[in-house]
Amino acid sequence: MEPQASQISPEMLDLLKVLTRPDAADEKVYHGFFPAEDVESCLDVPLDSLKFRLQQACPICKRHSHHLRWIRYSSPASAWERGAGVVGALSLCDQCGIQVQFIATQPH
Ligand SMILES: [Zn+2]
Repeated sequence: MEPQASQISPEMLDLLKVLTRPDAADEKVYHGFFPAEDVESCLDVPLDSLKFRLQQACPICKRHSHHLRWIRYSSPASAWERGAGVVGALSLCDQCGIQVQFIATQPH
C-alpha cells in the first residue's frame, strides 16, 4: 500500500494564519492535523529531514521541506484503542508553529 500524504487545505491555512499571529509565536505549539499535545510528546523522535527534500514546503513562510523539522508521529494510546491510531512522518515549521504535512506509514 502506498503511503498517504496529507496536505493542508486552503480553509485550514486561513485558520492557521490566525492561530499563528506573532503574539502567539513564543509558545512551542504546532497547530494542524493532530492535537498539539500529542505532537509535543513525539518531538523526541526526530527524523532526517534530508530524506524529505521533495515534500511540501511550509505554506506560510515557504521554507523548503528539508528545512522543516521532521518527526515520527504516533497517535496516543487512546486513539489506537478507538481504532483511530496513525503513525508516520510529520513535518513541523518551527518559525510558523504549524504542522505542514503528514505522511502515513502502515503500522507493523
Ligand atoms: Zn513556516
